[in-house]
Amino acid sequence: MGSEISDVIIVGSGPAGYTAAIYAARAELRPLVFEGSITAGGALINTTEVENFPGFPEAVMGPQLMGQMRDQAEKFGAELVTDDIVAMDLTGDIKTVTDSDGTEHRAKTVILAMGSAYRKLGLPDEDRLSGHGVSWCATCDGFFFREKDIAVVGGGDSAMEEATFLTRFGRTVTIVHRRDDLRASKIMADRAKNDPKISFAWNSEVSAINGTDSVQSITLTDTVTGAQRVLDVSGLFVAIGHDPRSELVRGQVDLDAEGYVLTQGRSTRTNLAGVFACGDLVDHTYRQAITAAGSGCSAALDAEHFLADLA
Ligand code: FAD
Repeated sequence: MGSEISDVIIVGSGPAGYTAAIYAARAELRPLVFEGSITAGGALINTTEVENFPGFPEAVMGPQLMGQMRDQAEKFGAELVTDDIVAMDLTGDIKTVTDSDGTEHRAKTVILAMGSAYRKLGLPDEDRLSGHGVSWCATCDGFFFREKDIAVVGGGDSAMEEATFLTRFGRTVTIVHRRDDLRASKIMADRAKNDPKISFAWNSEVSAINGTDSVQSITLTDTVTGAQRVLDVSGLFVAIGHDPRSELVRGQVDLDAEGYVLTQGRSTRTNLAGVFACGDLVDHTYRQAITAAGSGCSAALDAEHFLADLA
Protein backbone atom coordinates (compact mmCIF):
# COMPACT_ATOMS: atom_id res chain seq x y z
CA MET A 1 0.00 0.00 0.00
CA GLY A 2 1.28 3.50 -0.84
CA SER A 3 1.90 5.35 2.48
CA GLU A 4 0.73 8.73 1.19
CA ILE A 5 -2.92 9.73 1.31
CA SER A 6 -3.65 11.86 -1.77
CA ASP A 7 -6.17 14.64 -1.76
CA VAL A 8 -7.63 13.48 -5.07
CA ILE A 9 -7.45 10.32 -7.14
CA ILE A 10 -8.94 10.55 -10.64
CA VAL A 11 -9.84 7.36 -12.51
CA GLY A 12 -10.06 7.94 -16.27
CA SER A 13 -8.18 10.00 -18.83
CA GLY A 14 -10.72 11.20 -21.37
CA PRO A 15 -11.73 14.86 -21.60
CA ALA A 16 -13.49 14.52 -18.22
CA GLY A 17 -10.54 12.99 -16.36
CA TYR A 18 -7.87 15.27 -17.82
CA THR A 19 -9.96 18.41 -17.28
CA ALA A 20 -10.57 17.37 -13.66
CA ALA A 21 -6.79 16.82 -13.41
CA ILE A 22 -5.98 20.29 -14.81
CA TYR A 23 -8.32 22.00 -12.35
CA ALA A 24 -7.27 19.89 -9.35
CA ALA A 25 -3.59 20.38 -10.18
CA ARG A 26 -4.00 24.15 -10.53
CA ALA A 27 -5.70 24.12 -7.10
CA GLU A 28 -2.46 22.50 -5.81
CA LEU A 29 -4.20 19.25 -4.91
CA ARG A 30 -1.53 17.15 -6.72
CA PRO A 31 -4.06 14.72 -8.23
CA LEU A 32 -3.03 11.15 -8.92
CA VAL A 33 -4.60 10.16 -12.25
CA PHE A 34 -5.05 6.57 -13.41
CA GLU A 35 -5.32 6.81 -17.17
CA GLY A 36 -6.13 3.21 -17.97
CA SER A 37 -3.78 1.11 -20.09
CA ILE A 38 -5.09 0.28 -23.57
CA THR A 39 -7.52 3.18 -23.83
CA ALA A 40 -5.49 5.92 -22.13
CA GLY A 41 -6.65 9.24 -23.56
CA GLY A 42 -10.26 8.12 -23.81
CA ALA A 43 -12.67 7.71 -26.70
CA LEU A 44 -11.09 10.42 -28.87
CA ILE A 45 -7.76 8.63 -29.01
CA ASN A 46 -9.22 6.35 -31.69
CA THR A 47 -10.76 9.01 -33.87
CA THR A 48 -9.50 11.31 -36.57
CA GLU A 49 -10.65 14.93 -36.96
CA VAL A 50 -12.56 16.66 -34.17
CA GLU A 51 -14.24 19.71 -35.67
CA ASN A 52 -16.49 20.80 -32.81
CA PHE A 53 -14.14 21.28 -29.88
CA PRO A 54 -13.99 25.05 -29.32
CA GLY A 55 -10.67 26.73 -30.04
CA PHE A 56 -9.71 24.65 -33.09
CA PRO A 57 -11.21 26.34 -36.16
CA GLU A 58 -9.15 24.11 -38.48
CA ALA A 59 -10.17 20.96 -36.56
CA VAL A 60 -7.81 18.90 -34.41
CA MET A 61 -6.96 15.22 -34.56
CA GLY A 62 -8.41 13.31 -31.60
CA PRO A 63 -5.04 11.98 -30.35
CA GLN A 64 -3.50 15.47 -30.61
CA LEU A 65 -6.32 17.04 -28.58
CA MET A 66 -5.97 14.39 -25.89
CA GLY A 67 -2.17 14.66 -25.91
CA GLN A 68 -2.45 18.41 -25.32
CA MET A 69 -4.91 17.92 -22.46
CA ARG A 70 -2.51 15.38 -20.95
CA ASP A 71 0.45 17.78 -21.26
CA GLN A 72 -1.59 20.56 -19.66
CA ALA A 73 -2.51 18.36 -16.67
CA GLU A 74 1.10 17.22 -16.25
CA LYS A 75 2.47 20.77 -16.55
CA PHE A 76 0.43 21.85 -13.52
CA GLY A 77 1.57 18.91 -11.41
CA ALA A 78 -0.88 16.04 -11.97
CA GLU A 79 0.79 12.64 -11.51
CA LEU A 80 -0.27 10.46 -14.45
CA VAL A 81 -0.16 6.68 -14.25
CA THR A 82 -0.88 4.65 -17.39
CA ASP A 83 -2.49 1.75 -15.60
CA ASP A 84 -5.92 0.30 -14.91
CA ILE A 85 -7.67 0.41 -11.60
CA VAL A 86 -9.04 -3.05 -10.93
CA ALA A 87 -10.83 -2.51 -7.60
CA MET A 88 -12.14 0.39 -5.52
CA ASP A 89 -13.32 0.74 -1.93
CA LEU A 90 -15.04 4.11 -1.77
CA THR A 91 -17.21 3.77 1.31
CA GLY A 92 -14.97 5.04 4.14
CA ASP A 93 -13.52 8.50 4.81
CA ILE A 94 -10.27 7.31 3.18
CA LYS A 95 -10.92 5.73 -0.23
CA THR A 96 -8.76 2.97 -1.68
CA VAL A 97 -8.18 2.13 -5.33
CA THR A 98 -6.11 -0.88 -6.42
CA ASP A 99 -3.96 -0.86 -9.56
CA SER A 100 -3.21 -3.82 -11.83
CA ASP A 101 -0.13 -4.82 -9.72
CA GLY A 102 -2.34 -5.07 -6.64
CA THR A 103 -0.91 -1.87 -5.12
CA GLU A 104 -3.47 0.10 -3.13
CA HIS A 105 -3.60 3.90 -3.38
CA ARG A 106 -5.46 5.98 -0.82
CA ALA A 107 -7.18 9.35 -1.12
CA LYS A 108 -9.63 11.63 0.64
CA THR A 109 -11.62 12.10 -2.58
CA VAL A 110 -12.06 10.12 -5.78
CA ILE A 111 -13.28 11.45 -9.12
CA LEU A 112 -14.80 8.78 -11.34
CA ALA A 113 -14.31 9.54 -15.06
CA MET A 114 -14.29 6.10 -16.68
CA GLY A 115 -16.51 7.04 -19.62
CA SER A 116 -18.92 4.83 -21.46
CA ALA A 117 -18.24 2.35 -24.23
CA TYR A 118 -20.23 2.52 -27.46
CA ARG A 119 -21.68 -0.90 -28.24
CA LYS A 120 -20.11 -2.31 -31.37
CA LEU A 121 -21.51 -4.65 -34.00
CA GLY A 122 -18.57 -7.00 -33.51
CA LEU A 123 -17.64 -7.15 -37.20
CA PRO A 124 -14.04 -7.72 -38.35
CA ASP A 125 -13.69 -4.42 -40.28
CA GLU A 126 -15.52 -2.22 -37.81
CA ASP A 127 -12.45 -0.96 -35.92
CA ARG A 128 -10.32 -0.70 -39.07
CA LEU A 129 -12.88 1.59 -40.75
CA SER A 130 -13.73 3.55 -37.59
CA GLY A 131 -13.18 7.22 -38.48
CA HIS A 132 -13.22 6.24 -42.17
CA GLY A 133 -16.96 5.87 -42.60
CA VAL A 134 -17.88 3.94 -39.45
CA SER A 135 -19.05 6.20 -36.64
CA TRP A 136 -20.93 6.08 -33.35
CA CYS A 137 -21.80 9.76 -33.19
CA ALA A 138 -23.88 11.69 -35.75
CA THR A 139 -23.35 15.00 -33.95
CA CYS A 140 -19.59 14.47 -34.22
CA ASP A 141 -19.30 13.09 -37.74
CA GLY A 142 -22.52 13.82 -39.69
CA PHE A 143 -20.91 16.84 -41.28
CA PHE A 144 -18.41 14.60 -43.13
CA PHE A 145 -21.24 12.91 -45.08
CA ARG A 146 -22.70 15.75 -47.11
CA GLU A 147 -24.70 14.40 -50.09
CA LYS A 148 -23.60 10.82 -49.29
CA ASP A 149 -25.66 7.70 -48.73
CA ILE A 150 -25.70 6.71 -45.07
CA ALA A 151 -26.90 3.73 -43.04
CA VAL A 152 -27.85 3.82 -39.37
CA VAL A 153 -28.03 0.58 -37.37
CA GLY A 154 -30.53 0.33 -34.50
CA GLY A 155 -34.20 0.45 -33.65
CA GLY A 156 -34.35 2.64 -30.53
CA ASP A 157 -34.80 6.34 -29.91
CA SER A 158 -31.13 7.12 -30.40
CA ALA A 159 -31.06 5.41 -33.80
CA MET A 160 -34.13 7.44 -34.88
CA GLU A 161 -32.57 10.63 -33.56
CA GLU A 162 -29.25 9.94 -35.30
CA ALA A 163 -31.01 9.10 -38.58
CA THR A 164 -33.24 12.17 -38.49
CA PHE A 165 -30.25 14.39 -37.69
CA LEU A 166 -28.22 12.84 -40.53
CA THR A 167 -30.86 13.79 -43.12
CA ARG A 168 -29.45 17.33 -42.82
CA PHE A 169 -26.32 16.09 -44.52
CA GLY A 170 -26.89 12.82 -46.34
CA ARG A 171 -28.56 12.22 -49.67
CA THR A 172 -30.30 9.14 -48.26
CA VAL A 173 -30.41 7.53 -44.83
CA THR A 174 -31.29 3.84 -44.45
CA ILE A 175 -32.18 2.57 -40.98
CA VAL A 176 -31.10 -1.05 -40.64
CA HIS A 177 -33.06 -2.93 -38.01
CA ARG A 178 -33.07 -6.62 -37.25
CA ARG A 179 -36.80 -6.82 -36.52
CA ASP A 180 -39.87 -5.53 -38.35
CA ASP A 181 -40.95 -3.13 -35.62
CA LEU A 182 -39.12 -0.42 -33.74
CA ARG A 183 -38.29 -0.18 -30.03
CA ALA A 184 -38.25 3.62 -30.37
CA SER A 185 -41.03 5.80 -28.92
CA LYS A 186 -43.92 6.45 -31.34
CA ILE A 187 -43.09 10.12 -31.77
CA MET A 188 -39.46 9.41 -32.71
CA ALA A 189 -40.43 6.50 -34.96
CA ASP A 190 -43.10 8.55 -36.74
CA ARG A 191 -40.69 11.40 -37.31
CA ALA A 192 -38.25 9.00 -38.98
CA LYS A 193 -40.94 7.17 -40.96
CA ASN A 194 -42.35 10.44 -42.30
CA ASP A 195 -38.99 11.79 -43.40
CA PRO A 196 -38.69 11.50 -47.20
CA LYS A 197 -34.92 10.93 -47.01
CA ILE A 198 -35.23 7.97 -44.61
CA SER A 199 -36.00 4.39 -45.65
CA PHE A 200 -35.91 1.19 -43.61
CA ALA A 201 -34.15 -2.13 -44.14
CA TRP A 202 -36.39 -4.28 -41.93
CA ASN A 203 -35.40 -7.73 -40.63
CA SER A 204 -31.82 -6.95 -41.60
CA GLU A 205 -28.47 -7.29 -39.92
CA VAL A 206 -25.17 -5.81 -41.06
CA SER A 207 -23.00 -8.86 -41.71
CA ALA A 208 -20.00 -7.12 -43.35
CA ILE A 209 -18.58 -3.64 -43.81
CA ASN A 210 -16.86 -3.34 -47.19
CA GLY A 211 -14.13 -0.95 -48.28
CA THR A 212 -10.35 -0.71 -48.41
CA ASP A 213 -9.58 2.79 -47.11
CA SER A 214 -13.12 3.90 -46.33
CA VAL A 215 -16.61 2.44 -46.28
CA GLN A 216 -17.94 1.67 -49.77
CA SER A 217 -20.89 -0.56 -48.91
CA ILE A 218 -22.35 -2.87 -46.29
CA THR A 219 -23.66 -6.39 -46.66
CA LEU A 220 -27.09 -6.98 -45.14
CA THR A 221 -28.39 -10.39 -44.16
CA ASP A 222 -32.16 -10.93 -43.91
CA THR A 223 -32.83 -12.23 -40.37
CA VAL A 224 -35.83 -14.25 -41.63
CA THR A 225 -34.71 -15.71 -44.96
CA GLY A 226 -30.91 -15.49 -44.62
CA ALA A 227 -30.69 -13.80 -48.02
CA GLN A 228 -27.84 -11.33 -48.48
CA ARG A 229 -27.68 -8.05 -50.36
CA VAL A 230 -25.20 -5.21 -50.69
CA LEU A 231 -26.18 -1.65 -49.84
CA ASP A 232 -23.90 1.09 -51.19
CA VAL A 233 -23.20 3.62 -48.45
CA SER A 234 -20.28 5.86 -47.49
CA GLY A 235 -21.26 6.15 -43.84
CA LEU A 236 -22.34 3.59 -41.26
CA PHE A 237 -23.58 4.96 -37.95
CA VAL A 238 -23.89 2.38 -35.19
CA ALA A 239 -26.61 3.37 -32.69
CA ILE A 240 -27.23 0.24 -30.64
CA GLY A 241 -26.50 1.67 -27.20
CA HIS A 242 -23.73 2.42 -24.71
CA ASP A 243 -22.34 0.67 -21.67
CA PRO A 244 -21.14 3.02 -18.93
CA ARG A 245 -17.95 1.64 -17.34
CA SER A 246 -19.38 1.50 -13.83
CA GLU A 247 -18.85 -2.20 -12.98
CA LEU A 248 -16.08 -1.44 -10.44
CA VAL A 249 -18.32 0.81 -8.35
CA ARG A 250 -21.57 -1.16 -8.63
CA GLY A 251 -22.91 -1.90 -5.14
CA GLN A 252 -21.13 1.14 -3.64
CA VAL A 253 -22.15 4.07 -5.80
CA ASP A 254 -25.79 4.50 -6.80
CA LEU A 255 -26.38 3.73 -10.49
CA ASP A 256 -29.48 4.12 -12.62
CA ALA A 257 -31.17 1.21 -14.41
CA GLU A 258 -28.74 1.45 -17.33
CA GLY A 259 -25.63 1.57 -15.14
CA TYR A 260 -24.89 5.31 -15.33
CA VAL A 261 -23.60 6.82 -12.08
CA LEU A 262 -26.25 8.98 -10.42
CA THR A 263 -25.19 12.45 -9.30
CA GLN A 264 -27.01 14.89 -7.04
CA GLY A 265 -28.77 17.84 -8.69
CA ARG A 266 -26.47 19.91 -10.84
CA SER A 267 -23.42 18.77 -8.87
CA THR A 268 -21.07 15.86 -9.55
CA ARG A 269 -21.58 14.46 -6.01
CA THR A 270 -22.52 10.81 -5.79
CA ASN A 271 -24.32 9.15 -2.87
CA LEU A 272 -20.89 8.65 -1.19
CA ALA A 273 -19.22 11.60 0.55
CA GLY A 274 -15.97 12.48 -1.21
CA VAL A 275 -16.79 10.56 -4.40
CA PHE A 276 -17.60 12.55 -7.54
CA ALA A 277 -18.46 11.43 -11.06
CA CYS A 278 -18.30 13.15 -14.43
CA GLY A 279 -18.25 12.75 -18.20
CA ASP A 280 -19.96 10.04 -20.21
CA LEU A 281 -20.08 7.85 -17.08
CA VAL A 282 -22.99 10.00 -15.87
CA ASP A 283 -24.33 11.37 -19.15
CA HIS A 284 -27.20 9.76 -21.07
CA THR A 285 -27.86 12.77 -23.16
CA TYR A 286 -25.03 14.85 -24.54
CA ARG A 287 -21.94 12.58 -24.68
CA GLN A 288 -19.60 15.13 -26.22
CA ALA A 289 -15.98 15.95 -25.48
CA ILE A 290 -16.85 19.48 -24.43
CA THR A 291 -19.65 18.42 -22.07
CA ALA A 292 -17.39 15.72 -20.58
CA ALA A 293 -14.64 18.32 -20.09
CA GLY A 294 -17.16 20.71 -18.50
CA SER A 295 -18.32 18.14 -15.99
CA GLY A 296 -14.70 17.17 -15.26
CA CYS A 297 -14.14 20.80 -14.29
CA SER A 298 -17.23 20.67 -12.03
CA ALA A 299 -15.99 17.47 -10.38
CA ALA A 300 -12.61 19.02 -9.54
CA LEU A 301 -14.30 22.12 -8.10
CA ASP A 302 -16.72 19.94 -6.08
CA ALA A 303 -13.77 17.90 -4.73
CA GLU A 304 -11.90 21.09 -3.88
CA HIS A 305 -14.89 22.44 -1.90
CA PHE A 306 -15.31 19.09 -0.15
CA LEU A 307 -11.63 19.09 0.92
CA ALA A 308 -11.86 22.71 2.08
CA ASP A 309 -14.81 21.78 4.33
CA LEU A 310 -12.75 18.92 5.84
CA ALA A 311 -9.91 21.23 6.81
P1 FAD B 1 -13.75 8.69 -22.26
O1 FAD B 1 -13.21 9.60 -23.29
O2 FAD B 1 -14.45 7.45 -22.70
O3 FAD B 1 -12.55 8.29 -21.31
C1 FAD B 1 -12.71 7.35 -20.28
C2 FAD B 1 -11.36 6.97 -19.76
O4 FAD B 1 -11.48 6.14 -18.62
C3 FAD B 1 -10.48 6.22 -20.71
O5 FAD B 1 -9.25 6.87 -20.75
C4 FAD B 1 -10.28 4.85 -20.10
O6 FAD B 1 -8.99 4.39 -20.34
C5 FAD B 1 -10.44 5.19 -18.63
N1 FAD B 1 -10.83 4.09 -17.78
C6 FAD B 1 -11.96 3.35 -17.83
N2 FAD B 1 -11.95 2.42 -16.88
C7 FAD B 1 -10.77 2.58 -16.22
C8 FAD B 1 -10.16 1.90 -15.12
N3 FAD B 1 -10.76 0.88 -14.50
N4 FAD B 1 -8.93 2.30 -14.70
C9 FAD B 1 -8.31 3.36 -15.30
N5 FAD B 1 -8.86 4.05 -16.33
C10 FAD B 1 -10.06 3.64 -16.77
N6 FAD B 1 -17.15 14.08 -29.14
C11 FAD B 1 -17.02 15.32 -29.62
O7 FAD B 1 -17.30 16.29 -28.91
N7 FAD B 1 -16.57 15.53 -30.90
C12 FAD B 1 -16.21 14.52 -31.73
O8 FAD B 1 -15.81 14.74 -32.88
C13 FAD B 1 -16.31 13.19 -31.23
N8 FAD B 1 -15.95 12.14 -31.99
C14 FAD B 1 -16.01 10.88 -31.48
C15 FAD B 1 -15.57 9.83 -32.25
C16 FAD B 1 -15.58 8.54 -31.75
C17 FAD B 1 -15.10 7.40 -32.61
C18 FAD B 1 -16.07 8.31 -30.42
C19 FAD B 1 -16.09 6.91 -29.86
C20 FAD B 1 -16.53 9.35 -29.64
C21 FAD B 1 -16.50 10.66 -30.16
N9 FAD B 1 -16.93 11.74 -29.41
C22 FAD B 1 -16.80 13.01 -29.90
C23 FAD B 1 -17.50 11.57 -28.06
C24 FAD B 1 -16.41 11.86 -27.00
O9 FAD B 1 -15.26 11.16 -27.35
C25 FAD B 1 -16.88 11.44 -25.62
O10 FAD B 1 -18.08 12.11 -25.31
C26 FAD B 1 -15.83 11.80 -24.57
O11 FAD B 1 -14.59 11.22 -24.88
C27 FAD B 1 -16.25 11.35 -23.19
O12 FAD B 1 -15.23 11.69 -22.32
P2 FAD B 1 -15.02 10.95 -20.93
O13 FAD B 1 -13.81 11.56 -20.34
O14 FAD B 1 -16.26 10.97 -20.14
O15 FAD B 1 -14.77 9.41 -21.29
